[in-house]
Amino acid sequence: MEETFSKSIEQLVGLKLVGEKDVKLLERVDKACDELLVPEYEAYVERRFNSDLVPILSKHKLMGIPIAEEYGGDGAGMLVHSLAMERLGQLGMGVVTLVDVHQFLGSLTIQQWGNSEQRSRYLPEAASGRAILAYALTEPEAGSDPASMSTTFKAEGSKYLLNGEKYLISNGSIARYLVVFAKSVEDGRVSSFIVDSKSPGFKVSMHLSEKLGLFTSDTAQLEFHDLEVPKEDLLGPLGRGLSVAYSALLNGRIGIASGCLGVMEDCLISCTERAKTRVQHGKEIGKHQLIQLHLCRIVADLESSRWPIYMAAILKEKLDSDPKNSDLLREVDRQSAIAKFIASNNAYDAADRSVQIFGGFGYSILSPVGKHLIDTRVARIYEGTDEIMELKIASSILGKEFEAYR
Ligand SMILES: Cc1cc2nc3c(=O)[nH]c(=O)nc-3n(C[C@H](O)[C@H](O)[C@H](O)COP(=O)(O)OP(=O)(O)OC[C@H]3O[C@@H](n4cnc5c(N)ncnc54)[C@H](O)[C@@H]3O)c2cc1C
Repeated sequence: MEETFSKSIEQLVGLKLVGEKDVKLLERVDKACDELLVPEYEAYVERRFNSDLVPILSKHKLMGIPIAEEYGGDGAGMLVHSLAMERLGQLGMGVVTLVDVHQFLGSLTIQQWGNSEQRSRYLPEAASGRAILAYALTEPEAGSDPASMSTTFKAEGSKYLLNGEKYLISNGSIARYLVVFAKSVEDGRVSSFIVDSKSPGFKVSMHLSEKLGLFTSDTAQLEFHDLEVPKEDLLGPLGRGLSVAYSALLNGRIGIASGCLGVMEDCLISCTERAKTRVQHGKEIGKHQLIQLHLCRIVADLESSRWPIYMAAILKEKLDSDPKNSDLLREVDRQSAIAKFIASNNAYDAADRSVQIFGGFGYSILSPVGKHLIDTRVARIYEGTDEIMELKIASSILGKEFEAYR
């Protein structure tokens, strides 16, 4: 794996962003990335899920980066986790999606909202990679507006019974445990649950393989028919499910933005080499000024994305040690939206310019940049669309009474 830009920036400005333990963690990430390069490429070209991903990440103990050491994780803070995602992003958004959903939306949510029994029961399996996690919020008729969901739950004896459908769920058919959201049949308030996919009533109704890209990531549609959830698997307080869902997305958005940073780094590495070696009109294409313009925009996109992400990660780390600070929560909400909005749009633009630099070969799935163009597009949709991020950022300036949606 190429030297990452964050490393050189640290050296350049003489900042100590991370400690010795974190440096070792990031070295493990680099090793895993080296091992994943070929399997991820092969899976992409063959348009299938990369079944080597979890075994390789598990071997390098990378399935529980933010999970506390007592549960078998690294206990890393958000900034280090963001730097890890940046490295994984060089492999593409397929890898980023699995890791983001498993760690940021899955295990971190259980760590932050679960009681000690839930943490002891689920986190060691998740951190070792024995169990993959998923996050099931979206439904066929409820995407940007999750409060309009129709999946329901009702209490029956020692269990809750869940009924409904979840749509576009990453890791949906490979997850052992899922963080699932449903509405009470009694008062309509949303609660969150830890669901075991081996429970009666759980069904993977469809593998969503007709996606435009992101072939190496699993996406599924799920059905719940009187799905049995033991009462002790309610996650967080009854009726606070939307708070759980939104707090998970704060972490997730920083993860996705960091992955996009890695995509831009990979584009830059590939394009620099191509610009120096491909000869047209008697000289390397990098000597044509219009190709330099594309390269300039890719670097500018990359660097203008970096600090909003690091800022969001640093603020989130602060919030994690001061979780009741509502001013800080609002700031993290805004900053993580800015980070994801900028990074996902810049990464898509950078991937598009990279395809242009590569010319006809760039349009092939065999080129190193083609997959980034297709796979990065989803980052402007999942975990909050561009439009929802824009409205959130604008209303953070205008004030609550100007919120364009509820
Ligand atoms: C590959 C993939 C993986 C995914 N993984 C997961 C997952 O693991 N778990 C999960 O729960 N979900 C997942 N999703 C779902 C994703 O989060 C949703 O697609 C997303 O939130 C948008 O919802 P929607 O598709 O229903 O679009 P809609 O909400 O129907 O939006 C359609 C359009 O309307 C716009 N819009 C909506 N409301 C407003 C408004 N108030 N103002 C202005 N514009 C508005 C949107 O921005 C968008 O442009 C995944 C999606 C994809 C494509």
